[in-house]
Parts: sequence; structure tokens; C-alpha cells
Amino acid sequence: MPEQTAHSLPSYLNPDELGPWGDYLEQVDRVTPYLGKLSKWVETLKRPKRILVVDVPVELDDGTIAHFEGYRVQHNMARGPGKGGVRYHQDVTLSEVMALSAWMSVKTAAVNVPFGGAKGGIRIDPRQHSQRELERITRRYISEIGLVIGPMDDIPAPDVNTNAQTMAWMMDTYSMNVGVTSPGVVTGKPISIGGSLGRVQATGRGVFVVASEAMRDAGIAINGARVAVQGFGNVGGTAARLFHEHGAKVVAIYDHTGAVYHENGLDIPALSEHARETGGVAGFADADTVTPDEFWALETEILIPAALEGQITAKNAPSVRARIIVEGANGPTSPQADDILASNGVTVVPDVLANAGGVTVSYFEWVQNSASFYWTEGEINERLEAIMRDAYASISATAAEHKVTMRTATFITACSRILEAHEIRGLYP
Ligand code: GLU
Repeated sequence: MPEQTAHSLPSYLNPDELGPWGDYLEQVDRVTPYLGKLSKWVETLKRPKRILVVDVPVELDDGTIAHFEGYRVQHNMARGPGKGGVRYHQDVTLSEVMALSAWMSVKTAAVNVPFGGAKGGIRIDPRQHSQRELERITRRYISEIGLVIGPMDDIPAPDVNTNAQTMAWMMDTYSMNVGVTSPGVVTGKPISIGGSLGRVQATGRGVFVVASEAMRDAGIAINGARVAVQGFGNVGGTAARLFHEHGAKVVAIYDHTGAVYHENGLDIPALSEHARETGGVAGFADADTVTPDEFWALETEILIPAALEGQITAKNAPSVRARIIVEGANGPTSPQADDILASNGVTVVPDVLANAGGVTVSYFEWVQNSASFYWTEGEINERLEAIMRDAYASISATAAEHKVTMRTATFITACSRILEAHEIRGLYP
């Protein structure tokens, strides 16, 4: 029998093109020494449980036929059904969806909600398609992955470039296919079909809550603090708004159209209006323009990457002058950048903790769907904030105990929970 090494890779991956999955594997390697006897099971974290790649053929509005590549990866389900969003982006790859699914396993375990980790994606630029085309693409994709999803199996949600409308099409398609209205098959739905109050803002709200905790630990007041945000969508936009409302100076926003800056703080409501009208922050009158390199090097108290993965790397990490990075995006910081930031005294509150507010309220939505009993927005926000604060407190205690970064501490907490579930369940057969 060939020997299994700690670094053995599945044959479907090219070792030279590991992409985000390579970053994830390195994060797991860093945590392994802290897992004690559970490290016996660690290889299970390095292999997704199940990968489904589907062809998504669709008739475009002009009558031609196009084919898109779709994925659903179920990374780990030891602690409960798969959970994780579906992203529409022209650069989606299998390695990326694998990493995102694994980060979902870590995230759900970090905040201790009873789900595993999964993720989906379609390799498509949604900006090139009409709503009618996106509806047909979504419906065909959900029918194709219908083999593996379900309210007790694996529950999709919004991610980059998908939203409540996308979830409504998904819920309807799945329900039509099984013949029963099944609100619990996806989360992030519109309120009228079983969505949860507070879900849209939940990820940004969670980012704000853990950022506030990290600032308190560092002795930084929110009022007057300088904040820079990459991404002005659901996550970055909500986090920027909450910081603005609490008296912080959101000095810079960088989105796909460019980066704008104002040293006294941007007028966030006016900038949101401008972005809604023009499609992005570029061209906002009451601000200066900065280059991406200048954006990353801004002197701030808080830097929030809330766009895509792979943004802070060994190249730009040395120039970062923020005191605390709070990761709204999944996977924005490479392991090499983590080392540079740690040695420069920059605290990183990692994605798998900082952006877990979204999946936490997804969990509340799923619970409400199962019970057909709905909570108030006040109850939801209160429970969300309590979960985020408790997770932050116990993970920062773990970081202090082992003298490790918050990322490694989050992985210690989460991987221990996942592997404990594996151990107690035992290996089948
Ligand atoms: N896409 C979000 C994330 O990356 C939410 C996932 C969910 O609610 O299932 O955490």
C-alpha cells in the first residue's frame, strides 16, 4: 500500500496550482501541533468529503446555448448538515470552492453552530447576464446539485454576487423538484418566504461586533477611530455603515471601481447612494482617489478586507499600517502575510471568526424554518451579538494561552470540535 504522508494530495488537484486550497492546507498544518491526540484524525480535514462538479447548460436570451461550470463541495459533515454559500464569479475554480467549503467547516465549528461546511459556485460573470438568464442558470444549477442538497443534508446561502432573489429561485426550484415547499433548503431568503430578519446585515454586523471587542482589548475607542474597508457590498457596506453610525471615521473604501479616501471620514450614506446610482465608489465627489497600493498602506486603526480572497500577500503585507485587520471576506490574507503582520504587531481577527455572523443568522433562519415560528429582529441581533462576543472571548483566551495568532487559536477551537465529533462517532464501517 502506498504510504500516506501528511501532505498527500488528492489526485484531482495539480500540486503546482493549489490556489486558496494551498493556503488552507498550510493553516491546518499550523494548527496540527496543538491538536494533541486528535491529530490522528487531521487528514480528514485535508480532503473534502464530497465534490460535485456539474455542467449548467442554459438558453441565453438571444437563443444561443451556453454552458457554465458549477460546483458544490461538502467539506465536512461530522457536526451536522453541510452549510455554506454559493458564489457567482468568472474566476471560480474547484480549488477555491474547496477552500471556501473548508473554511465553512472551521467557521461553523468556531461559533459552535451545529453544521458542517460546504460551498458552491458557478464560473460565470453575472454582470454579463440578464435577470432572466440568471434565473434559468440558477434553476438548472440547483436541479443539478439537487442530488446532494436538502434541509437536513446541505443548505446553500448567498455569497459573492448572489442574494435573496437568487435564494428564492433556489428554494422554489428545489421545492418544485421534491414536490413540497421546503423553506429550510436555503438560507438568506426573502422574508416573505421564510427568510430571517437581520440576515442581510448579519455578516457586517458580526464584523462590527468582533472589531469592537478587538478594539476594546487594544484600548482603541470606536469614536474617531480610522477605518478602511475593501469591498462595499453586503459585508463591507454594512460594516462601514455601522462604524460610521458609531462615530468612527471611515476614511477609505476600495471596491471593483477604485478606491476613495477622505482623511476626516467619508460620508457613508452619500457614498452608498453614489455607488447605487453609478455601480461603484469611483467618481464620488467628496473624496480623493487613492491607488490600491496606497489603500493597503493607509495608517488606520481598523482595516477590513471584505471582498475576495488573496488580497493581503507577502507583497503588500509589509506596507500595512493598520493596527487591527478584521476579515470580512473569506481567505483575504495568505499564511506568509499572516507571519509578516504578526511580526509587525498587526492583530488579525480571522475570517473564520470575524465573518461568522452570516452563517450564525443562517442557522437562526434554518431553526425558525424548522419550527415555523419567527423571531423579532431584536431577538436575532441580541443572540447574534452574544454568540460573536462569546466566540471572540474564548478564542482570544486560547490565543493568549498558547501564544498563537487569533487565526491559529480559531483553528485550534474549531478543528478540535470537528475532530472530537469524528472520534466519538468513529469510522464507518
Ligand atoms: N456565504 C457566507 C459565508 O461565507 C454565509 C454562508 C451561510 O450563511 O451559509 O459565511
